[in-house]
Amino acid sequence: MGVASISNNEPLICKAETMRYRPFGKTGLLVSSLSFGCMRLSDDREYNTGLISQAIALGVNYFETTRYYLDGTCQHRTAPGLADKTPGIIISGKEGIGPDQTACRFRREIERQLDILGLSHFKFFQVGWFSWGMMQHLLKRGGVLDAIREAQDQGLIQHVGFTGHDTPENFIKCIETGLFDSITVPYNMINRAYEPTIRRAGELGVGVVAMCPVAGGVLSLESDRLREALKMDLPTTEMALRFVLSNPNVSTACSGMNRTEQLQQNVKTVKEFEPGSCDFGAMCEGLDRLRVTLGDRFCTGCRYCMPCAQGVDIPRHMDIYRNWKCFGLGAWAADAVKGVPEEKSASKCNECGVCEGKCPNTLEIRKMLRELVSLGNPKRAGKSKK
Ligand code: SF4
Ligand code: SF4
Repeated sequence: MGVASISNNEPLICKAETMRYRPFGKTGLLVSSLSFGCMRLSDDREYNTGLISQAIALGVNYFETTRYYLDGTCQHRTAPGLADKTPGIIISGKEGIGPDQTACRFRREIERQLDILGLSHFKFFQVGWFSWGMMQHLLKRGGVLDAIREAQDQGLIQHVGFTGHDTPENFIKCIETGLFDSITVPYNMINRAYEPTIRRAGELGVGVVAMCPVAGGVLSLESDRLREALKMDLPTTEMALRFVLSNPNVSTACSGMNRTEQLQQNVKTVKEFEPGSCDFGAMCEGLDRLRVTLGDRFCTGCRYCMPCAQGVDIPRHMDIYRNWKCFGLGAWAADAVKGVPEEKSASKCNECGVCEGKCPNTLEIRKMLRELVSLGNPKRAGKSKK
């Protein structure tokens, strides 16, 4: 097994025969193009252990975890597979931030997650559920940054990243502070909202972990429209990974995996794909052409419409609408509408119109929500408020 590090004391694993590697921002680390999101692991300890060991043997050297996934069991499910292999890999931990968060509590959480994972330190620790509005809680005296700096001084953390769901513009402001070594955001061929943020991260040398490269499984469904747009005759999952990794500013595509076949297929895709062989600009143009089919109904995921006083998760519904109308995934969309929790459902909309006044893309949100209600439950559609 080779090494994939430039400046840190502990070189990362590097298995060039099965994996490709990319610089992780300015950290000096080379991260595997495919990384492992541990939030979908099953409750089969033995299987997880084998799966994670196999991922490492295939050259995956970044594992994303937090104590909070899987009802508090994510890191417990991950740890056995990492035993004795931790020096050569990055295992990221994550803790949230809010008005009540203190340096003391944040520090305790770092130690707690290290303990569960059996690590002496984190090569990466992430400030989770972050937003521009949280910056004050990060920077305040006795706040999270104090805890992070102290942990870094004591060797408990090397690099710091953040993740969350703020607007692309606000996340650009966050990375421009120079406080972070990486950003973790959802990015795939049907959700390109953070593309400007990713571009800026590339300019600043901030590493980019692209979450949800197959859109939580949506991109495992076959779509002739996507094949045509990208001019690739490949299964959608393969096209999805190729698209994400064609973006030169993405450091790694982080896929939540829980099956051996999935891992092996993703590793194969990443290994076979020569990033320079695809024209990223042409792929984006193809996807943009698809977007035109939605005309003025294309949501860019900026979230300016939120919050909704009735609790409607508007961006989630707009995502479903796009996948339905743009990518031809009607059956999936009908199921997805039914899967939205009742308290966030489009059926809660009272048509106040406030969201439309805030939407920079002037989407007819109320009309689109009505169509979705109708798709998810034709009988109930007639009862929605007019
Ligand atoms: S129109 Fe509906 S979705 Fe928009 S803010 Fe009002 S209640 Fe929420
Ligand atoms: S509906 Fe409009 S405001 Fe809301 S996320 Fe989409 S584009 Fe942004």
